[in-house]
Amino acid sequence: MDSLMDLEKKNIAIVGGGIIGISSALYLIRRGCKITLIDKDLKGESASYGNASWLSSPSITPVLMPGMFAKIPKMLFSQDGPLFLRFPGVLKTIPFLLKYLSYAKVDKVEYISKHLVTLLSDSIGEHKKLAEGTKAIKWIEESPFLFIYKNKDDYIKDSFTWDLRKKHGFNLIEIEKNQLKNLLPGLSNEYQFAIKIDGQGYISNSQNYLDDLINGFKELGGEIIEDEVVDIVSKENKVEIKTKNSNLNADNVLISSGIYSESFSKKFGVEVPIQSERGYHLELFETNIRIKYPIMNGYLKLAITPRPTGIRFAGLVEFGSFNSKPNNKAYELLLRNAKSMFPGITYAHKQEWSGHRPSTVDSLPIIGPSKIDNKIFFAYGHHHIGLTAGPKTGEMIGKNILRDNNQYDLTPYSSDR
Ligand SMILES: Cc1cc2nc3c(=O)[nH]c(=O)nc-3n(C[C@H](O)[C@H](O)[C@H](O)COP(=O)(O)OP(=O)(O)OC[C@H]3O[C@@H](n4cnc5c(N)ncnc54)[C@H](O)[C@@H]3O)c2cc1C
Repeated sequence: MDSLMDLEKKNIAIVGGGIIGISSALYLIRRGCKITLIDKDLKGESASYGNASWLSSPSITPVLMPGMFAKIPKMLFSQDGPLFLRFPGVLKTIPFLLKYLSYAKVDKVEYISKHLVTLLSDSIGEHKKLAEGTKAIKWIEESPFLFIYKNKDDYIKDSFTWDLRKKHGFNLIEIEKNQLKNLLPGLSNEYQFAIKIDGQGYISNSQNYLDDLINGFKELGGEIIEDEVVDIVSKENKVEIKTKNSNLNADNVLISSGIYSESFSKKFGVEVPIQSERGYHLELFETNIRIKYPIMNGYLKLAITPRPTGIRFAGLVEFGSFNSKPNNKAYELLLRNAKSMFPGITYAHKQEWSGHRPSTVDSLPIIGPSKIDNKIFFAYGHHHIGLTAGPKTGEMIGKNILRDNNQYDLTPYSSDR
């Protein structure tokens, strides 16, 4: 059996340097392990760089909720609907989508929420711990969240979601019309009611945040290899990681390459289906209207986040486009939405981005060991909540790899569930 000393000195390779990979890398290197983080494109289009940047502890409900099935046709066929299906790619995803829909039931959603709470609670505190001692700490902003509605009746129609949040301890503050105007000057008069949740936060610049975390990792002696992993081969006492340009060996490998993880994880026994839910952002720079707080617009399925010189509008869901180019209609829709929410908004220039959320069929990520090879571990499949859940995931998988006595129960996230 390994002694505690040996465990702490483990030589671990992590495949994928998005928020999940870097959080795991920092946790493990601080515990004394030798870590090599391999990423094919650290400045690329990964979900971790382009997301809405919310540290969203209240996001404890999956995207598909009871009653949503009936709303899907409207979302698809309305010109301004937030859901896109791309043909022919979507045809291959039909078995996944049917199974995905089967989780939109009260008991299943309650189960998912319970196990998302473990990952999401106190995200601000978890990110501060993660960023401590690195320059990344300065990008963490504390702020309330505002969930806007056209009227209170529409809020009441969402009571299943809000009751779940209340049950898990969130304090909901009702904001009426006049107060909303003061909180969000420039917002369209269409929105007359909101729910405020205090004690939340966001990352003011996700690109710089991840870069600074990676620099912090390097300062602790972590090694970065910028190369594409093409295969992972398990040998008797080690694992060989084959990249395009070299081979390296490690005691353990953590697969945390977001939507790309499945190409490696399947051969190590993962049975949980995963699909890309492509999302989009539009960032407007030097806007005349500025917001102080992150805003959720449930009608448009958009998260709107303050940025240093403007506003980022992020969201939408697209299935079937993993191997296609981004959809220009999505960018046009985001701009229409920005203008409808903030009539009169002006900006100097804009940025468009799109990336892949790694979405599992049951809306819970895969965190834990391979059931057929004890040298291989997984941490991926965080769909809409990966930034929020990154640090806690890093700690959970880190403790598991190091076989700590005080482990988290990883059963709900297991690779063979
Ligand atoms: C529009 C949008 C808005 C979102 N908003 C939020 C939000 O506000 N809050 C929140 O918590 N979450 C949000 N998310 C979700 C969040 O971004 C993701 O869950 C999270 O970024 C996933 O992180 P990851 O590290 O698993 O994957 P990724 O960020 O995709 O990172 C995977 C990394 O693996 C690397 N890689 C892949 N294959 C290989 C290979 N073969 N060899 C080497 N490297 C490889 C890639 O280059 C990449 O850097 C949003 C997502 C989208 C799309």
